[in-house]
Amino acid sequence: MWHNVWSMVHLKGFATRNNLLEHRRLLSLINSMADGVIAVDEHSRVALYNASALNLLDLNTDIQNQPLVDVVKIYDKAKVEIDLQKLIDSAKTPVSSRDYLLHYNDSSEANLYLSIAPVHLGYGQAGQRGYVLVLRDITKEKSLEEEKDEFISVVSHELRTPVTIAEGSVSNVEFILDKTGDISDLKEALKQAHVQLIFLSELINDLATLSRAERGRLIVDVTAINAHDIIDGLVKSYEPEVKAKGLQLNTDIDPHLEVLYSSELYVKEILQNFITNALKYTSKGQITICAKQIKDGIEFQVSDTGIGISKSDQDKIFQKFYRSEDYRTRETKGTGLGLYVTKKLADLINAKITLDSELNKGSTFKISIPNIKKLQS
Ligand code: ADP
Repeated sequence: MWHNVWSMVHLKGFATRNNLLEHRRLLSLINSMADGVIAVDEHSRVALYNASALNLLDLNTDIQNQPLVDVVKIYDKAKVEIDLQKLIDSAKTPVSSRDYLLHYNDSSEANLYLSIAPVHLGYGQAGQRGYVLVLRDITKEKSLEEEKDEFISVVSHELRTPVTIAEGSVSNVEFILDKTGDISDLKEALKQAHVQLIFLSELINDLATLSRAERGRLIVDVTAINAHDIIDGLVKSYEPEVKAKGLQLNTDIDPHLEVLYSSELYVKEILQNFITNALKYTSKGQITICAKQIKDGIEFQVSDTGIGISKSDQDKIFQKFYRSEDYRTRETKGTGLGLYVTKKLADLINAKITLDSELNKGSTFKISIPNIKKLQS
């Protein structure tokens, strides 16, 4: 196909053998480029193009000599078509932009990098003027950039409140000590600062796990896990908090649980996230931890009698930074990262999470964890 396309290219000044050789070299060079390249003549008709350009434009026809504006249609973010001819006419020196969009027939779109450079197509001779357009699909880069921007804005927003409160509380302490010397007010100011600093350290921990998970840096260290021991440990560590909130913590564990082959660290971290949430979003009643043997491993379950999760929120709570709009959720501190990280860890150990919840009744988070050794064999 390339032979056909390029053989149709008409460039002046290829009379000698050397020029012909150079021309072929140029063609094979352009053909090997991943970027789309289109050269147009002074009347903005296509004089040269490569396969990447056709791919990007989703065309499978010969575009030789066609008016560029018929072949390439670009849009801005507001979906308004850009006047490409005007862009070309104003390109006295090379210009480029990363803000254009291409629309496809199946109504999908791609972010486009486009550069336009005025050139002489006369190949070293005083000849025809024209323009070379370079086109690149930058959809992936753009979405990463957007995600990064969103991440930075959410994190800085999340950090601002606790840092301001902690700073205010500490400065209050200084003020009280300086002016009144009365230490009874100190306790409240220090408590406030402490709460905010705990939140900040949780946020930083979540972010650190998240960044390791996203970079694929987490290693699954498979060991033989005794689920009874894990649950006993969790119950011991959560009991004081459960009591302080006037709740009950129950367990319902299959006495015939087999050894589980998985990552003890991630299994613990996942269950901890479920229990921490159950505690956070339950003001009366009980939290129950269950474990039962399933065919390929163990199914754990953490149920609570808390505020519950609406159907529409159930689809969203595993998303990064998502927190329910429910005022009762907003009364508690949280990063909206816990379940997102939990899902990432679950994926790493091939575990499946299911959620059953009813608003104002309570929630049950289930996770079935397979034996990794059995899976691999
Ligand atoms: P965080 O708890 O820090 O907000 P998570 O990612 O752990 O973040 O949870 C996301 C959201 O899911 C919470 O903000 C809350 O709205 C909802 N949620 C999670 N667990 C429960 C639960 N046990 N009961 C009610 N809502 C919950």
